[in-house]
Amino acid sequence: MGILEVKDVNKRFGGLQALGDVNLSVAENTVHAIIGPNGAGKSTLLNCLVGKLIPDTGSVSFAGRSVLGRKPYQINQMGISRVFQTPEIFTDLTVIENMMIPVLARRDGAFKLRAIENVRAEKSLMDEAEHMLDEVNMLDKRDAHSGSLSRGDKRRLEMAMCLVQKPKLLLLDEPTAGMARADTNNTIELLKTIKARGDITMCIIEHDMHVVFSLADRITVLAQGTPLVEDTPENIKGHPKVKEAYLGE
Ligand code: ADP
Ligand code: MG
Repeated sequence: MGILEVKDVNKRFGGLQALGDVNLSVAENTVHAIIGPNGAGKSTLLNCLVGKLIPDTGSVSFAGRSVLGRKPYQINQMGISRVFQTPEIFTDLTVIENMMIPVLARRDGAFKLRAIENVRAEKSLMDEAEHMLDEVNMLDKRDAHSGSLSRGDKRRLEMAMCLVQKPKLLLLDEPTAGMARADTNNTIELLKTIKARGDITMCIIEHDMHVVFSLADRITVLAQGTPLVEDTPENIKGHPKVKEAYLGE
């Protein structure tokens, strides 16, 4: 049994079958990559894991408990954090103020909006937020206006906001999309460091094969909403079906 178990998940949008009989088992403290062409259903699958979408049929369980029927913040409190395809940060707050939101939300279970109201009043958890910023090499940007950050820094901030929650499962939807090569490499190093601690499971959707092959223990190839093949990175590289459906060879 994996820490994350997805069984026979189906999701339709009107006449479009976005996910068809998706099965996925992710072993604890491993990195599982999900790759596949645009429109394959990768983001839809992640949305079904975090309560943003509800599958039409099938089951999703985390650490032996069903996530279906729970609200996104309740799933977050079960230990699942997610880095979005488009960074979800509060651009009117500074970097450190953004960091305080998950710190506060984690502590008292408050909904995000209440956490935002409390953010300036709460100083006691600042150390924790600063420590995490230091880990992602952004402490020097502590008081920068988040809206003015580079794309790479916005993603690092969002990642730090997830990591400070100490999730058991981190879901990453194209974490290096739109990043310059240097930022991508920094992100790989950061994720490698986190992985090496051995106490977090990661599910990563990624187009950049260099990122995938640097981090993944297992890879699932999704095509038209259905897993085509799941295997080790070594076997995926040479798989004829994958070359044909995804690598365009
Ligand atoms: P990927 O992340 O692999 O690029 P998505 O999961 O975003 O793919 O999308 C899968 C398919 O579902 C696409 O055809 C997309 O247009 C469609 N889709 C995604 N979200 C919605 C939605 N909220 N309403 C209708 N169609 C959607
Ligand atoms: Mg997507």
